Amino acid sequence: MIAGRNAVITGSTSGIGRGIALKLASEGARVMINGFGDEADIATLLIELEKLSGKKPIYSPADMSDPEQIEAMMRLAENELGGVDIMMNNAGIQFVSPIEDFPTDKWNQIIAINLTSAFHTTKAVIAGMKARGWGRIINLASAHSLVASPYKSAYVAAKHGIAGLTKTVALETAEFGITVNAVSPGYVLTPLVEAQIPATAKARGISEKDVIQTVMLSNQPTRKFVEIDDVAATVAFLCSDSAKGITGSNITVDGGWTAQ
Ligand code: NAD
Repeated sequence: MIAGRNAVITGSTSGIGRGIALKLASEGARVMINGFGDEADIATLLIELEKLSGKKPIYSPADMSDPEQIEAMMRLAENELGGVDIMMNNAGIQFVSPIEDFPTDKWNQIIAINLTSAFHTTKAVIAGMKARGWGRIINLASAHSLVASPYKSAYVAAKHGIAGLTKTVALETAEFGITVNAVSPGYVLTPLVEAQIPATAKARGISEKDVIQTVMLSNQPTRKFVEIDDVAATVAFLCSDSAKGITGSNITVDGGWTAQ
């Protein structure tokens, strides 16, 4: 049952996280959203979430690269929601560059946002979930948690890392009614992907059209982008009671990419 649960979704002002927040709210969860973006757009999203769930959502602008801001966000969630039942670690960024030119600050930022933030949020929610005997921790990984692509060293390292974190925390919490899983999409057409098209074109010396056709979708046997709603539905299933036996898994929604 998702209705009546409290969910925190990091990086949910845009793309996949936004889709997940809308899906969980539509199933009756009270949500805390997080991320950057236009104030008016976030206000509109909050109104939409409240209409869907019938419960007042909360917004935290905490920067997932800053442990102190993450801790403050988790305290706010605990106090305002009265406990976090569903922790959705989704915030993520990308940077594409050959490793010899890869800026060190970009490496550190990607590891902090895409991997370490999930360590901090997970650490904050475990005690409450154990006490209540129910919890769902879901990490938005990627096909890049299973396979690599050139020029994405930090992203692939962070996503492989989060797959390992998922398995470890699943083992530590398995007896407490808590499941911990990763969801690994292939390419989904979100602002994150749109932004990397020109950078990939530059790194590979090809046109932007060729990046879509010969780099991105050539990896996906379906030759189609994965849809946000399909990822959100997978997350909702993992939050359901029917998924109580699924823990420590990494579920791909990648159009067949990693089957190759
Ligand atoms: P997006 O750029 O549309 O959304 C990213 C969200 O994260 C936004 O809400 C943004 O404000 C937030 N964010 C970025 N930096 C942040 C920070 N420092 N602190 C707090 N929030 C921050 O991206 P998306 O494509 O929806 O990606 C969401 C997740 O899905 C990421 O973890 C990404 O790696 C993963 N993913 C995406 C794809 C894809 O093809 N789009 C594929 C596999 C995995």
